[in-house]
Amino acid sequence: MARRQEASRGSMPLKELLISKESKAMASFGVRDLDTMMRFAPRRYVVPAPLRSLREIRQGEEVSAIVEVTSVHDRAMRSRYGFLLEVSVTDGTESLPLTFFLTKQHQVDWHRGRLPVGALILVRGTVGYDDFREALQLTHPAYEPVEDTDEGRAWAQRPRPVYPLKQNIAQGTMRSATEKGLEFAGSLSRPVPEEVIARRGLPPLEEAVRLVHVPLTTEDTRRGMAHLRFEEAFVLQSVFAQRRAQDERTPAPVLAAEGPLQGLFDERLPFDLTAGQREIGDELAARIAHGHPTSALLQGDVGSGKTVVALRAMLRAVDSGHQAALLAPTEVLAEQHHRTLTTLLGELARAGQLDAHPEATRVRLLTGSQRTSHRRETLLDVTSGQAGIVVGTHALLTENVEFASLGLVVIDEQHRFGVDHRRRLRAKGPSGQSPHVIVMTATPIPRTAALATVGDLDVLTLRESPGRRAGVTSFVVHEKLPAWEQRMWQRAAEEIAAGRQVFVVCARIDEDEADAPAPPLLDEDGTEQPPALEPARGVHQSALRLAERPELAGARIGILHGRLSGEEKQQVMKQMVDGEIDLLVSTTVIEVGVDVPNASVMIVLDAERFGVSQLHQLRGRVGRAEHPGIAFFDTSAMVGQEHSQHLQRIADAADGFELAELDLRRRGAGDLVGEEQSGLQRTLKHLDVLRDARAIEQAREDAFAVVESDPELTAHPALARAIEDRLRDADPDVERS
Ligand code: ADP
Ligand code: MG
Repeated sequence: MARRQEASRGSMPLKELLISKESKAMASFGVRDLDTMMRFAPRRYVVPAPLRSLREIRQGEEVSAIVEVTSVHDRAMRSRYGFLLEVSVTDGTESLPLTFFLTKQHQVDWHRGRLPVGALILVRGTVGYDDFREALQLTHPAYEPVEDTDEGRAWAQRPRPVYPLKQNIAQGTMRSATEKGLEFAGSLSRPVPEEVIARRGLPPLEEAVRLVHVPLTTEDTRRGMAHLRFEEAFVLQSVFAQRRAQDERTPAPVLAAEGPLQGLFDERLPFDLTAGQREIGDELAARIAHGHPTSALLQGDVGSGKTVVALRAMLRAVDSGHQAALLAPTEVLAEQHHRTLTTLLGELARAGQLDAHPEATRVRLLTGSQRTSHRRETLLDVTSGQAGIVVGTHALLTENVEFASLGLVVIDEQHRFGVDHRRRLRAKGPSGQSPHVIVMTATPIPRTAALATVGDLDVLTLRESPGRRAGVTSFVVHEKLPAWEQRMWQRAAEEIAAGRQVFVVCARIDEDEADAPAPPLLDEDGTEQPPALEPARGVHQSALRLAERPELAGARIGILHGRLSGEEKQQVMKQMVDGEIDLLVSTTVIEVGVDVPNASVMIVLDAERFGVSQLHQLRGRVGRAEHPGIAFFDTSAMVGQEHSQHLQRIADAADGFELAELDLRRRGAGDLVGEEQSGLQRTLKHLDVLRDARAIEQAREDAFAVVESDPELTAHPALARAIEDRLRDADPDVERS
């Protein structure tokens, strides 16, 4: 609490600066102090119609003109209640009547006071036609005093800011509030050092806020916003720089041993590592040997071989006398990872068994559905250090599982976790040390998006995929067009006849239960498209319907979903792997990592309900071995509808990088990453991680330099305050360490 007060002390409260109507309008957006208000940018600007001579104007046109008032008359209207005010104006070429229909005498007086004969005004409005007089006129135009000079003309042409509004708030209230604030711009807090602002060629803050709120040209708005964007990026990057600096002060186990398991494992591998796998392996090895916690994001498309890279790092931890944990988002995946690791390691994983290699370690699986006796035994291995590698779900971190000496944590598919793992992990290492963390993700983030979202992680990218994969071709299928549906199931049947297997994924388990609405889509302008679609098909009903389809007669159909017990799930997966099921209808439990090399068809029903990265993950389940894969995105949307076009873009996008951009455009960067960073991301006011790539990179360079020279920011109090505000906005409930 004390910190909170300190943070807001710097900035002038709006209540003391504005009239109550204005400060209330601002408060409805959570804007309560001068600093925040001056950074509350217009949503857009309207550029007035070009100045015209009255001789040129036409009916129906938007016009602006500089004119002189030549006469003013008002009279009570005969036909209806109220007054008619007629103002005649001229620009020297033509004259034009301005007409106002008013209900109150004081309104008449008000206009008369502002429109004395001889006054020079700027009028703006739509040209109308007076049938009675057979002449052009302006009804209820906007007007303001103006000077007929170059400056006056420039002023008349200035873009008008349009602020976000809520009910009952007038645009004029927002404008007058910010214009008042501008008078105090000299007292604004300046988180970015002036030297940095100057070097980057940005206008100083005081000028920038004027350019944003009362610009003279569109170029002004751009220059002013450039400052605000840079400032935002700079504060954000300073957060990352400080976290990095803090990592550099935190001790972590030194994972520097060169063998023996690492060498033995490399010899065992049935394939050669790709150049990328070697390179990233070396980089990781160097980082975890360094005595301070590494936080790395290992990204690479589905099947790019991340697991092997991570396993080699885990073996380095074991070789160094510590343990490694591998965390998966679901039990099914944890089980599969456990199988994969034990298979890859073979005799190296069989410590304590007769056929073990003398240097072997133990790989243990720990899940909630294990029987108590088994679980106790496993826990004992974890606590005693017998298990060099422990595989589980992220419950491993929340439960009080005691590791003998946890040196490295590998997290698979971070977008399921939330990245506050770092904080939670801090003390999990031996004697209060912080273990190293590697997060693996198959949804690669474009570089600058990564800088703006996970800028405190080292991003390592596997670009090539090892050769043997046959790849996947994706198609969009429209449920409403029976011929397409039929062709799809026929194709599935052909693959089954050829000995392959088929996945069918549904958005829910049961159709009798409430259906989650499909997520809305954003069109090109960022406008939401309403999800006008059929309810989602369920696993149970789909399996029954498929059993009836003539194309699939004789196919062995299985089902899998999260409500089956751990044992049942395992059994179904085993049947699938063993080829005893031809077609598996399931929910997304199979989304990530499930490996059935013989599967060649992935059919996603109601595909529009799935996220971009989910669809990419799903299609990555097929075409993994030598058989080419086919993915069908089946939708109840019609051809040409937004949902269908969106799916088509995913079908056409070849690699994860292209998709990551699609995903970003659709959802904003927040969802790409875990909760902690997405908190920071969600509160981004001005930055667009794609558009503002350059500003983000420059701000990063500058912020890291500032934090390096002044880690506690004692010489940069405004920046320190801005960081606190930023963290509080992002995550009000969490106390920062
Ligand atoms: P990811 O986790 O990135 O999706 P995996 O690590 O699961 O990818 O690898 C996908 C498949 O490719 C696995 O069967 C793995 O054994 C295999 N693989 C990994 N690296 C190589 C390589 N260098 N050459 C051939 N196959 C590889
Ligand atoms: Mg994987």
